[in-house]
Amino acid sequence: MTSPVAISEPLEAGLYIVATPIGNLADLSPRAADILTRADVIAVEDSRVTAGLLRHIGIKRPMLPYHDHNAEGMRPGLIARMASEAVALVSDAGTPLISDPGYKLVRDARAAGHHIVTIPGPCAAVAALTLAGLPTDRFLFAGFLPSKAHARAVAIDEIAAIRATLVLYESGPRLSACLAALAEGLGDRDAAVTREITKRYEEAVTGTLTHLAARYADAPPKGEIVIVVAPPGEAPPPDPQDADAALVEALTRLPVAKAAGEVAKAFGLDRKALYARALELKGE
Ligand code: SAM
Repeated sequence: MTSPVAISEPLEAGLYIVATPIGNLADLSPRAADILTRADVIAVEDSRVTAGLLRHIGIKRPMLPYHDHNAEGMRPGLIARMASEAVALVSDAGTPLISDPGYKLVRDARAAGHHIVTIPGPCAAVAALTLAGLPTDRFLFAGFLPSKAHARAVAIDEIAAIRATLVLYESGPRLSACLAALAEGLGDRDAAVTREITKRYEEAVTGTLTHLAARYADAPPKGEIVIVVAPPGEAPPPDPQDADAALVEALTRLPVAKAAGEVAKAFGLDRKALYARALELKGE
């Protein structure tokens, strides 16, 4: 473990990506507080939000706005400053770049050869995974789905076959419709609605997607929400008749060994068994 740098030392020039609490200010790490205290300037989404955090640790630092609406214009100036100053990047809550601005700032800082350091910490997606009680060995963070029904259905369709737990951000008013669309597109999987994580009314409600959609239909919840959805169930074993049909078709184009290999790959079946079956089908 590296011991923290003494507070009096100036920070090396560069970019410091600082995670901040997602509700409970006590979750600001000592290292994050130290970096914010010593940064020459802090790039912030909303200066009122970050001013509250700085007040909490008893400091004042110069802030510059960096958000979706001014990022293009602000970025070159921030990149230039990183050559000689320590620029910290925070978002309103949690980890910058995660459904928040910052990736292009990191990209350009890297292209300019600047020193880049991350100060990891709270992230609602990861915190929700720890609460949901669903598999965590593979997960896909899908951020906010589109709000319009058709675009949302298309986005759900794109991720339906992925064999991983899904993690989504959503707002209270849209929660029920989103859960119903997920049930429609993914099947009625187990899920968890986690809400107000690290705050006073933190909760995780579990159930199937349709159960949860019904629960929130007439009572949209308040506060901030992460939906976690279980991976798809095991795929049913391939139907031997389908594999036979595929083999017959493949044999019209390919020699026996290649046809068996292609179908084995497509159906997840044993290549040797398919080779034998292919010979049978050809009457050899
Ligand atoms: N960068 C943040 C992070 O690391 O989690 C996420 C920013 S994104 C703009 C905001 C969304 O994150 C909220 O709409 C909500 O879906 C989720 N979120 C943030 N804080 C949360 C909390 N305390 N509990 C549940 N969800 C939260």
